Amino acid sequence: MLILDSSAFFSMDNLPDEEHACPPGVIRELENHEDPRLALWGDMVRVSDCTEASLEKVRAAATKSGDSNRLSPTDMTVIALAIDLNGTIWTDDYSIQNVASILGIPYRAVGMAGIKKVVKWNYQCMGCKKWYKEKQPDCPICGSQMKACRRK
Ligand SMILES: [Zn+2]
Repeated sequence: MLILDSSAFFSMDNLPDEEHACPPGVIRELENHEDPRLALWGDMVRVSDCTEASLEKVRAAATKSGDSNRLSPTDMTVIALAIDLNGTIWTDDYSIQNVASILGIPYRAVGMAGIKKVVKWNYQCMGCKKWYKEKQPDCPICGSQMKACRRK
């Protein structure tokens, strides 16, 4: 079972031969982009809702790894659905791949090779250059903007 996210849809020319599904949020994103593929494939895609219990697991893992700010609510349901259906996520989204690997969910990259190891994020103040492990709206010391960096 392949679980498709929006990036998978946007880069596909044909639906995969394997059995596949996606959460309703992905379909909504395609509708918002008025993606022509939806008209072609709309009836062939299985749309499933994830369970709240799985979504809770995803939220906890994303918060821990620092990916929660980069994951949309739809992204979270993609990962949660993969837990529910015991599927492989098909995505080019780096944060989805990261949280999937933390949760032990297999994933497949669409275009790129995919990441090899779990990364965490750090945040640096662009004013005073202080580093933080948690995301802040702005620097608690000097109030400057923060930027996210991959933790090595
Ligand atoms: Zn600062």
